[in-house]
Amino acid sequence: INPQEFIKQHVRTVPDWPQAGIQFRDITPLLQDPQVFRVLIDIFLERYASANLQYVAGLDARGFILGSVIAYELNLGFIPIRKKGKLPFHTIAEEYDLEYGNATVELHTDACKAGDRVLLVDDLIATGGTMIAGKKLLERLGATVVEAAVIVDLPELGGSQLIRDAGLEVFKVCD
Ligand code: IMP
Repeated sequence: INPQEFIKQHVRTVPDWPQAGIQFRDITPLLQDPQVFRVLIDIFLERYASANLQYVAGLDARGFILGSVIAYELNLGFIPIRKKGKLPFHTIAEEYDLEYGNATVELHTDACKAGDRVLLVDDLIATGGTMIAGKKLLERLGATVVEAAVIVDLPELGGSQLIRDAGLEVFKVCD
């Protein structure tokens, strides 16, 4: 069994959460078991060890768990991209549409600078809106977003295609 299939087997699907009809992909079993957690993180370390990065940016909140471990192991800085109202210093913001309503993510204006190469990390891609908002924030500071990396891509929603259409390559561990 290859590492990606092994990870897929440890993602839990929770029916009807947070509302009826939603099949929520729960990644906490991947974090709970130290052996599985290590296999997961090592997939990203192998892929990005020679990517010549300056930072890993994680999306609020599960992107923080993954992204900070990857950054630490690769000797890179970590950048949090947060939901509105959480970052204390000067910020820039990107609003995007959700199925019902909208959401806003924010980034500190001094998080990185022009020319920095940044890996963008989250746990999962659904519609792709969160990733695209994160990409826009980093690019507004002049950074180069090298790739969007996730554990799970839900391809039937077309999110990863939208991200690629926006000019950002996507790496997923499983679907
Ligand atoms: P998108 O912006 O529609 O691609 O949604 C992705 C964001 O919503 C990510 O930050 C995910 O953490 C979260 N999300 C949406 N659906 C799920 C799910 O089934 N499991 C875990 N996170 C999810």
